[in-house]
Amino acid sequence: MEDYQRSFSDSLEKGWFILGKKVEQFEEEFAAYCGVAGCAGLASGLDALVLALRYFDFPEGSEVIVPSNTYIATILAIYHNGLVPVLVEPELSSYNIDPLKIEEKINSNTKAILVVHLYGKMCDMDPIMATAAQHNLKVIEDCAQAHGALYKGRMAGTFGDFGAFSFYPTKNLGALGDAGALLAADPQRIEKIKALRNYGCHEKYHNKYIGINSRLDEIQAGFLSVKLPFLNDINNHKKKLAERYHEGLMYDFIRPVIHEDYQDVNHIYTVRHPQRDELRAYLLENNIRTEIHYPIPPHQQEALSNRLEGDYPISELIHRTTLSLPLSYSHTVADIDKVIEIMNKFKN
Ligand SMILES: *Cc1c(COP(=O)(O)O)cnc(C)c1O
Repeated sequence: MEDYQRSFSDSLEKGWFILGKKVEQFEEEFAAYCGVAGCAGLASGLDALVLALRYFDFPEGSEVIVPSNTYIATILAIYHNGLVPVLVEPELSSYNIDPLKIEEKINSNTKAILVVHLYGKMCDMDPIMATAAQHNLKVIEDCAQAHGALYKGRMAGTFGDFGAFSFYPTKNLGALGDAGALLAADPQRIEKIKALRNYGCHEKYHNKYIGINSRLDEIQAGFLSVKLPFLNDINNHKKKLAERYHEGLMYDFIRPVIHEDYQDVNHIYTVRHPQRDELRAYLLENNIRTEIHYPIPPHQQEALSNRLEGDYPISELIHRTTLSLPLSYSHTVADIDKVIEIMNKFKN
């Protein structure tokens, strides 16, 4: 709290609000945390995805493979570039894109795979990277729910051509407003992203690209530098609470799979249950507030209904049965034990 105030007062005194030292400092710190060469701070997670795709200048109408159960922002980023999302169903065990179902969707128009590390668990990256290499496709990682997550010891955002992050306040690393970033191993890529976020110019009034305005706010960057040293604590605390659920919940609730190759950061703790809506109402009667991530799959959203055709039964099943339980840095083990006790009394 005091550190936030100090950072804010510092910006106020210096009177520097756009692309200053605090943005540069956070970019360096976040790149170092993730172990990559380059980071560009942006205005939101959606913009990070939009600019990662914009970087490649794919011909209009090119196809991008994306999981059918992702948050809508991932799919909107594809449309904002005049590209076509091709939905691939997730695995029911991980809720992440099924690597075995990617290949059948690839054709000569396919340009990229946009994977999403949903709920804080990384995708099965080895087969995904192998498929991408075989077909010469770019890989972009949507890491908005996976700050600090690991797959076989390697961090989210460091596998693909770009790692896209959101620092929306409720994410594991959250600002006090909107913010986002792109990571890349190649510093030259980051240089172009830094131009694209600033009307397409490296040098003031010399526009090299058709850019946008998506700069990470200087004040938010200061807040993010205050928060970043606590990210591991936040992730560890959420992990401890998730393990509590995992051990305490009865088998009627389908819990997320824990696997030694994956170090999850538990952005969201979901269970699935066939009577999800009754369970949700029962918990609310007992003063336990839950969420649904997400209630409507992208292909059934009004905005996309005439664009995304086909049935996605696995995605629909997840959307129908998933429930997100209380899990945040401010919850205690005792809070979680209480939820477990009440859940285990649910009569269906
Ligand atoms: C939050 C989120 C985004 C969008 O981030 P914003 O900062 O809100 O634009 C994109 N993808 C996923 C998976 C998200 O959870």
